[in-house]
Parts: sequence; C-alpha cells; structure tokens
Amino acid sequence: MDAPRVRIAPSPTGFFHVGSARTALFNWLFARRHGGTFVVRIEDTDAERNREEWVEVIVAALDWLGLPPDEPPVRQSQFAAAHEAAATRLYESGALYGCDCARDAIDARLKGTSQTGYDGYCRDRGLERGHGVALRFRVPDQGETIVHDVIRGDVAFQNASIEDFVAVRSNGAALFALSNLVDDRAMGITHVVRGEEHLANTPKQLLLAAALDAAEGAKTAAPVFAHVPLLVNEQRQKISKRRDPVAVELYRDRGFLAAAMLNFLGLLGWSPGGDDEMVDLNTMIERFALEDVNHSPAFFDVAKLTHLNGAYIRALDTEAFIEACRPWVAPREGEWCPADQAPPWAPERFDPEVFAAVAPLVQERVATLGEVPSMVDFFFLEEPAIDGAAFDKAIANQPESIAILHDVHSALEDCAFDAETLHRTLVEVGERHALALRKAQAPVRLAVTGRAVGPPLFESMALLGRDTVRRRLAAAIAAAG
Ligand code: GLU
Repeated sequence: MDAPRVRIAPSPTGFFHVGSARTALFNWLFARRHGGTFVVRIEDTDAERNREEWVEVIVAALDWLGLPPDEPPVRQSQFAAAHEAAATRLYESGALYGCDCARDAIDARLKGTSQTGYDGYCRDRGLERGHGVALRFRVPDQGETIVHDVIRGDVAFQNASIEDFVAVRSNGAALFALSNLVDDRAMGITHVVRGEEHLANTPKQLLLAAALDAAEGAKTAAPVFAHVPLLVNEQRQKISKRRDPVAVELYRDRGFLAAAMLNFLGLLGWSPGGDDEMVDLNTMIERFALEDVNHSPAFFDVAKLTHLNGAYIRALDTEAFIEACRPWVAPREGEWCPADQAPPWAPERFDPEVFAAVAPLVQERVATLGEVPSMVDFFFLEEPAIDGAAFDKAIANQPESIAILHDVHSALEDCAFDAETLHRTLVEVGERHALALRKAQAPVRLAVTGRAVGPPLFESMALLGRDTVRRRLAAAIAAAG
C-alpha cells in the first residue's frame, strides 16, 4: 500500500477521553506499521465549546502517551474557506437546497405520521441561500449507500432511511458531516479510523463526497473507513464522563505509566495474538492490522488496567522507579506534577537517600505511583499521621499492646539497630507475651508508621533510626494512657 495518511480529529472538551486515546493509538500503530503519517486535526469550530488551553490538553495527553503527531496539529477553523467553497458548489449543483423550516413546524407536520426526521418540505421550494436559511442535502429516495468498513465489512444503509440532513446551518456554518469530510479531503487522508459512534455519519459523508465529485467534475479517492468498537463499562454502557473515569489526565495524575496505558488501550478491541499480558509498543507495531480489530464493544476494565500498571511498575529498574515517583514525592517547581496531590510532608523534610533505600520495598507493593506518598509519609513527617480508629482498636483498648510497646521501647535502647536485630528483638518480646511475631509487631507498626499496613517494618525502623522509633513508641504509650 502507498504510505497512508491518518488522523484523529478530536473536539476540544477540556480533557482527553480514553476512547480518543485508543483511537489515536490505533491510527498511530497503523501509520507506523505502514510507514505512513499520523496527524491531528482539532475540530475547533464549535466556538462556544472551545478554548485555547483545551487544545493544549490534547497535545499534552498525546505527548505523555508517546503518540506525538508527525506534523504540527491543524485546526478545523483553518479550513473555513474550504467549507464555504464546498457548500457553495453543492448548493449551486442542486445537491444542497435551502430550508427555513423551524423544528416546531416540522414536528407539527409529522404529527400523527410514522415519519421522523425531516419531511422534505423545502425540497422544491427553491429558497435562496441567505441568512436564516439552512442547507439540506437532497438524499436520493431510493437505493442504498454502502460503507465498506475494514472492521465490519460492507454496511448497507437504505437511502430512504436517511433524512435530508442539514449540511450548513442557517448561520452559514458547515456541520460535522460536511466540514469533517472537506477537511479529510483537503488533508489527503487515506484512512479514517474512528469511533463506532460515527458509523451512521459515514453514509451521509459518502453521499456528500459523491455530490462534491460530481460538482467538481473530478473524483477524489474516498478514504478507507474503519470504525473501532465502543468502550463500555462493567454494565455494558458506553463509558462516559458522567459515570466513569474517562480522562487520560486522571490516569496520569493517579500514577499510571504511559507504557501500561498504551498496552491496555492497544488490547481494547484488538489482540496481537499470544497469551502475553504485557505487550510492548514495537510488538504492537509489528502485528497491528485494522482487519484484526474486533467489532464488538470492548470492556474498559479499570481493575485490569490497575493490575497491569502494577506489573509495569514492578518491571522498572529501581532507578527508573525512583525517577517516576518524583512528581509525587519531590515535585520540582516548573515541572509537571499531578493535580491536587502535593506530598503531605514539607519539601525540606524529604530525604532522597531514605527514599532510595525504601523504594525497592515500595515498588513491590503499589499498583500506581499515586499510592507511594501514603506508603512512605512516616519517613518524612515529623510524626506519623496515626489512623485513630486503628489506634484505638490495636493499642488503646489492648493492655497487652501497651505492654509490648513498653518492652520494645526498652529493648531498643541499646541494641544494634539493623533490620535483623530488630526482627529478633520483636520475636523475643512476642515470646515473652506468648504472641506470634505477626501479633506482636502490629502495635509497633501502628505506633511507628501510623498505619496497619506498609513497607516491611524492620527495614523501615532501621531507616528511621533509633531516636525517631523510640520517640514514636513513647508517644503512642502516652497517647494510650
Ligand atoms: N470530532 C469527532 C470526534 O471527536 C471526529 C470524528 C472523526 O474522527 O471523524 O468524535
């Protein structure tokens, strides 16, 4: 095949939808696989729902995912003159006709009939184009329009079931079916790979394209279409901003790795074959084929994504893990950091060496980077933030726990302070109280770290040092008494 030219055409909405990210990935993989070009066109012509910073959101999300376009993004508004020229040509050729029907008037005429949509009232009125007059497309009454879709095969639409749709609003603005088509033609797009929700628009665009060809007296090659399957939630509903976490930025802020996200998105509706759960980008490029994309809805399983992310985190080498954690634990001025997630400690209390020492232990225990601060906060806070309910249950209401804390506090006065000795000491104290280590260490963990779970206790205590550990033990005894 000649080098393809593909695009995504997101509308700026203030966030980048994971469905758009999956579409971007499939387009990108296809372009990479066939030595083509991947471009981005921002559909920015809905002036009310469009802000400059929303364009940045799209660019930043693609950048984070590692799917930068091969050319600078273009905007639909750049093509306004081409939309107008196409509208004029179609109007002059008779493919579009003027219509000034108000929706109420159409509804009144259709009342009591089985017809829906538009009733063709203005088809032969010969209304002049002008303010207050929309332009509708004269859809043939008979025949069918067939969408040749790489994923779905041929999908036939009866022309009689397609209403005479509005292509140009009464204020002169081209609507989606027309503007999107004109842009794709102007940009030389060879393959339109987009969401299934646009399948019903495609016959309208094919009709418009044929009419444009006729009006121009020249044929522009139609792009190949591929409508990728919907993403649905556990209830099999299309995922939406209202009920599901759909913003790519949200996952970035929670500490998902771009590589895990891409791996997960790539397998939504497509499979590279084999049983491997972890599939890297190169493998995806080598194996990607639009023909192999599934047409049934794909389950956007956040639990699966989270699990996969944990596997990607564990696969990092320690240095890379430490670096990846930085925005969450030691954000730098002027650099990206996750929204609303400043670390709970004062920046000067963060100790990179302590963090580096504990990092391998933490790396094994988190599924997202956003979980890291709460696992290590007790190293960098003056006093750990103690979970009150857990404290009452495990210490204040347990005389035995208080006795253990006393014993440990004394035993740690002058013993060696390494993980092994601390372990042995806790075993001995437990034995004195006829308690297994697991039970004996629970109140100690709570007193020292503030939590019932966390990184391995003895390594953590050794890192904290004798003074801090004993001070926290004494504070817990005092608080319980
Ligand atoms: N703005 C449309 C969307 O975001 C573009 C559809 C297309 O790719 O043609 O769904």
